[in-house]
Amino acid sequence: MPSAPAAAPAKDNAAVPATAAPDAPLEILRRVFGYADFRGQQAGIIADVCAGRDVLALMPTGSGKSLCYQIPALVRPGCGLVVSPLIALMADQVRALRANGVRAGALNSQSDDADATIRALRDNELDLLYVAPERAAMEGFRALIARAEIALIAIDEAHCVSQWGHDFRPEYRRLRELCDGLPGVPRVALTATADVTTRADILQQLGIAPDRMVVAGFDRPNIRYEVTPRSDGLRQLGTFIAAQGGRPGIVYAPTRVGTEKVAEYLVARGVNARAYHAGLDPVTRARNQADFVGSEDMVMAATIAFGMGIDKPDVRFVAHLGLPKSIEAYYQETGRAGRDGDPATAHLIWGAEDIARQRQFIAQSDAGEARRAEETRRLTALIAFLETGGCRRAPLLGYFGDTPQGPCGNCDNCLSPPVLRDATEAARKLLSAVFRTEQRFGLQHLIDVLTGKGGEKVTKFGHDQLSVFGIGKDMASDDWKALARQLEAGEALIRDDQYGGLKLGPAARAILKGEVPILLKEAPPRPARGSRGAGPASVADVASGDVALFEALRALRRELAAAAALPPYVIFHDSALRAMAASRPRTHADLGRIPGVGARKLEAYGTAFLKVIAQG
Ligand code: ADP
Ligand code: ZN
Repeated sequence: MPSAPAAAPAKDNAAVPATAAPDAPLEILRRVFGYADFRGQQAGIIADVCAGRDVLALMPTGSGKSLCYQIPALVRPGCGLVVSPLIALMADQVRALRANGVRAGALNSQSDDADATIRALRDNELDLLYVAPERAAMEGFRALIARAEIALIAIDEAHCVSQWGHDFRPEYRRLRELCDGLPGVPRVALTATADVTTRADILQQLGIAPDRMVVAGFDRPNIRYEVTPRSDGLRQLGTFIAAQGGRPGIVYAPTRVGTEKVAEYLVARGVNARAYHAGLDPVTRARNQADFVGSEDMVMAATIAFGMGIDKPDVRFVAHLGLPKSIEAYYQETGRAGRDGDPATAHLIWGAEDIARQRQFIAQSDAGEARRAEETRRLTALIAFLETGGCRRAPLLGYFGDTPQGPCGNCDNCLSPPVLRDATEAARKLLSAVFRTEQRFGLQHLIDVLTGKGGEKVTKFGHDQLSVFGIGKDMASDDWKALARQLEAGEALIRDDQYGGLKLGPAARAILKGEVPILLKEAPPRPARGSRGAGPASVADVASGDVALFEALRALRRELAAAAALPPYVIFHDSALRAMAASRPRTHADLGRIPGVGARKLEAYGTAFLKVIAQG
């Protein structure tokens, strides 16, 4: 256990109520974490927990949930107990806390210093203890904490307690017992993703009163959302990644084979890419993950098995090749981008067959009627997000009950609004062609019929004799595809999953009768250089005069990180280096005023960074 000069005084103050100033949390924020002020709901939540009140905090990723229990754990007497679902998450938090001089430890199947941690807990020399839910539920562990002084119980990723959450973990259900066994100890549950159903469930499962919920809003203003229909997925992805300037990111692919194909494709184009999926041997998997966390330029092509334990703050993009399971899952997965608050991009590439597959999946599942209806509701919400011609944040945040103030100015549709063209007639032609060809042919065949292109297959079935033959000559093949995708998304067309044949869906009738107008979105020409450049300041957008110094500071950070076997961001975030490059502090006192430079880091790294700045 590292000794912790920076954090110890806070503990001592808190232990003696007479000296605990009312601004103790703010003082700790400044001295230990090096930040000037609380953000958003932090101050209120922290005050509540310090006063012993329970809280369920719904705060977006990157908004600073961790401090909401870390600071109260430093203020209140005893050790803060943190239940966290993944070992990697715990390791990351413990590492970051120790770098700030906080006495933190973890107990899990991989901790090699368990005895020392237990001793520190008994001797009241631990500020924060992270445990896995399985461990927290064990008899032995309960006996252990019964003998220690516990400051609070924090339940991180609290949506895991609900079967409605996207990541249900049965062990979380046993946490109620743990909490009830510690009367008077405040419980603080935290999550970034919970729709209304999930929230109610969390409160109930953890025994937190409904009026103790704080919802901070879900918007992640620094994430730019982009959605693109798939034509040639890999090539589209390659173009997107080429525009990312060699910065780290995650690509989610639906299958294991898919992740390997993506990684191979990117490596062949000079990208530092790896694959990650549950089929890799554990050693390779762990190594790939650790390398990604420590890297400044890696792209990880992964299944959704990857990510929950990734607290890497400088992930600059999350791309999806195929549909996520729901808006909630999408929000969670894309939420891994830009935790440090710097600009990041969420880029989704989808095709109509993805929707067909999910519909099929729901229809064939043996879950009950209610569950299927719920799944259908979720899919419909996801489709609304894909299909909207307006701001992406409206359907995205609306799903969580948030109402955005207006267009965000930081999504594809806000940045280059699609042109809407009346395609009601064309839609009727397409649906008629489906009907006349007996609802069993694929889209390419239908286009061959509509455009009068003909061909062997068309002649063989006599489709060149139909009234619909050639009635759609005026529209390009790509436009027919876009229209079909839109009709499929709206359930006017339904795809046979096995052969890809299209048939009329429940929404077709009203369109055929001319009762519902169809507006086709025409994608405006998007700048070829992709999403980079147009947005707000980014890592690459350090003022030109400061670039050389910024790069020198990064090099120093890399060196220090390698020597300490830490990821570079644990030393300082990019934003701290940018601030150093811009303001060029000359003294320890000046350097200490840079956000993210706390007492411990100033002491450990100050001299080295000041030296590089003086030379720069
Ligand atoms: P979350 O768990 O909500 O995703 P974190 O707790 O990981 O977010 O915090 C995200 C980032 O914001 C971290 O780098 C953290 O140090 C930083 N941060 C948190 N609170 C503040 C604050 N009050 N001022 C400046 N930065 C902060
Ligand atoms: Zn927008």
